[in-house]
Amino acid sequence: MIPGIGCKLMRIFITLLGAAFMLQAVGSVVLGLSGERTLAVITAIRRELGERGESVPNRYTYIISYTFTTPDGQVVDASTRRIGSSVYVKATGQQQVPVRYFQQLPVFNQLEQDTRLSWGSAILLAAGVFLVVAMNRPCGSEKFASAKVCRKHGTAPAMPQPGKPTGGLIGFSPKINDPAFVRYVNDTSRWAFLFSFILAVIVIAVFYIYGETSREMSNPEALYIGFGIGGMFIAIAALQETGRQRTKNWDGVVVNKKIEQKQRKRDYGNNDYVWEAYTLYAVAIRSDAGETYTISAEDDVTRYQYYQIGDRVRYHKGLNSHEKYDKSKDNIIFCNACASLNDIQDDVCFRCKCPLLK
Ligand SMILES: [Zn+2]
Repeated sequence: MIPGIGCKLMRIFITLLGAAFMLQAVGSVVLGLSGERTLAVITAIRRELGERGESVPNRYTYIISYTFTTPDGQVVDASTRRIGSSVYVKATGQQQVPVRYFQQLPVFNQLEQDTRLSWGSAILLAAGVFLVVAMNRPCGSEKFASAKVCRKHGTAPAMPQPGKPTGGLIGFSPKINDPAFVRYVNDTSRWAFLFSFILAVIVIAVFYIYGETSREMSNPEALYIGFGIGGMFIAIAALQETGRQRTKNWDGVVVNKKIEQKQRKRDYGNNDYVWEAYTLYAVAIRSDAGETYTISAEDDVTRYQYYQIGDRVRYHKGLNSHEKYDKSKDNIIFCNACASLNDIQDDVCFRCKCPLLK
């Protein structure tokens, strides 16, 4: 069927990455505003070997170690990085710097000067929000990322009306050999690659800017991390493409239909959420090879009504819907390429212009 696993994986991965960006950016600011303040003693300042590979000469990365004691007697050792000139001071064991930490978890601490809102954290926050929103929009992103049909919004509310059978629409259509379908499949993978490439460029740019503006991470490293994560996006897209290539044509029979009342948690952040009720409509198809495939849709009864138990169906490799053998009683038809709902009288899909299989 549709290679949904890769898509889902990519979505979870990018969402987590976006959340991590946001947490990192917001965490510092929250620490600065509401964290406990105390003075830490600088225990060591070490210079990392070698000059930083940047256009500005004589810049080095320093690792500053510090220690502080919380009012309840916990001793916390931590370190941070700084970028500075070749002139460097040795730790005397006397210098003190203000730090901020969370009372419950002092391991989360930062030098106070790092908790102020910087360009780096603002960019990180914006990038995090962008990634999370782009990955969790119900429709567009899913369609974009894998050309998988957005089940929730992809179909118009038109229902098959009883009566008025069109007749003569029995048999699998030979129009599947139309070159438009090959073109559609190729365009789909091209878009998926382009999309992951754009994401990769954004991530690399964000890490580069972060490396330039943040005091904690300097640039060759930040850039390498960006390349690593960006490379993973492209690798996931390649994986999805392999999955798509591996799907095969198959024929099967609709064996079961099910309606389930379900609930999902919709989170608004800050422990603020509501339980949303939805209905899941599922149609199970058993292929002639004995495998079961499920077509499911949330709050959309169209496919549930379209397929009847006992219907013979055919899945076409790389495409997005299942062709019915007998379309003689229908007044709607799903485009096999993009899965849009069309009128049975039409010859080509209104959206992607592929021929309708009838
Ligand atoms: Zn279409």
